[in-house]
Amino acid sequence: MGKIYLLDVTNRDGVQTAKLGLSKIEKTLINIYLNELGVFQSEFGFPTTRHETRYLQANLELAEMGVLQPIRLGGWMRAIASDVETAFKLVPSIRHLNLSISTSDQMIDGKFLGRKTRDHIVSDMVEAVDTARALGAESVGANAEDASRTDLNFLIKFGQAAQEHGADRMRYCDTLGYDNPFTIYQAVKTLAEKVGLPIELHCHGDLGMAVANSLAGAKGAIDGGQDAYINTTINGIGERAGNADLVAVILAAVKSKGFAEEYPLAGSIDLTKAWKIAGFASYAFGVPIPINQPGVGANAFAHASGIHADGVLKDPENYELYSFEDLGRGEPEFVETGRELCTGEYSGISGFSHVMGKIEVSFSDRDEANKVLELARYANVESQKPLVEDELLFIAKYPDIARKLLTLTPLE
Ligand SMILES: [Zn+2]
Repeated sequence: MGKIYLLDVTNRDGVQTAKLGLSKIEKTLINIYLNELGVFQSEFGFPTTRHETRYLQANLELAEMGVLQPIRLGGWMRAIASDVETAFKLVPSIRHLNLSISTSDQMIDGKFLGRKTRDHIVSDMVEAVDTARALGAESVGANAEDASRTDLNFLIKFGQAAQEHGADRMRYCDTLGYDNPFTIYQAVKTLAEKVGLPIELHCHGDLGMAVANSLAGAKGAIDGGQDAYINTTINGIGERAGNADLVAVILAAVKSKGFAEEYPLAGSIDLTKAWKIAGFASYAFGVPIPINQPGVGANAFAHASGIHADGVLKDPENYELYSFEDLGRGEPEFVETGRELCTGEYSGISGFSHVMGKIEVSFSDRDEANKVLELARYANVESQKPLVEDELLFIAKYPDIARKLLTLTPLE
C-alpha cells in the first residue's frame, strides 16, 4: 500500500511570495524545525540564484554534520539543461532536484508566445532530467506547472517521458488552485496508473481547497498504485492565496474520518512541534496566524458559548477533534512586560552577554563573545527584527555555518 510523504516548499514557494521573505538564518531554522517535525523533504531554495549559494551549501554542510538529518534538501529550478548545469556549478553537493516547466496550452501559448510547442516542453524536460542524472542527482522530480489546466493525454506523455529518462517523481502542480477534490482525484489516479511514478501534489488555495485537493490527489496517487508526496508550506504562506498548510495537511491526513487507515503518512511525524514552527514562521514572515487557523490559531481550542463550554469541560472530545497537547500547545510562554534588552545590529557586548546569559549560553572568553556578537549583528542586518532565542543559540553553536549564511557578495 502506498504512503504519503510530506515535501515542504516554504523555503521556495513561501519566500517567492509577493511582499514576503526570510533571511538565510530564518530559512535555515525552518529546515531544522521541518526536520524535527519529521518532514521528508524541504525544498530549501533556488540553486541557480547567486545569493542563495552560500545558504544552500551551508545547509548541505549541516546535513553532512548530521544536524539536518534525515530530512532531504531539494533545490528547485527550471527544467532546462542549462539551469541544471548552473545548479551543479554553484552548489556542487546538491543531490535532490525538482525541475519545473509549464505544460498547459494556456502557458505554452501565453508565456512562450509561439517560441515553444508541446514537443519542446517534453524535450526540454527530458534533457534537463538527463543532465541532472549525468551530474549526479540522487532524486529528480519532473514538475508540470499548471498541470490542472493541461490536456490529460499530454500530461501522461510528459510523465511517461520523465519516467523513461529516470525521473523519480512527477509533480502535479495545481498552480492556480483550479482543481477541486473530484477532478484532482481522477487526474492523479490516471497519471499514477499510466505514468508509473509517485505523484507530488502541489496545490494552491485560490478557491479555498488546497488542503482538500492535496488529500484527494494523494488518494488518487495511492489508488493508482503509487506513493504520494504532498507539497506544503508553513501557515499556508505562498503565492496569492497560498499553498496547502503543513499543519492542516497533517491534521487532515491523520484525524479526518477514516483516511489514515488507508492512506497513511510515511515516517514518524512529531506534531508537537507544530506550535513552535507555526509561531516562528509567523514571526519570521511578519504574518499573523489567523485566529481560526486549524490547530495553531488562537481560537482553535477556545470555547465561549454555554453549551460548548459545558460540553468541553465534561469531556473535551465533545467539542474538540484533537487536543492542544497534540500540537505542542499548553505550555506557558514567557513574555517580557518590563525592561527588555534586544540583540540588534548596533548591540554592544554588555547587553549581548546579558541576553545570552538569560538563555544559558556562556563564552570561554571575551574574544569568543565578541565573535558571536558580530555574527548576531549581521543576522539582524539581514532580518531587521530582534533575533529569537533559537537564532541566537544557532549562531552560538554553529558560528562557522552562521558566517557562511551571512556572507553575501553581489556581482562576484
Ligand atoms: Zn506554487
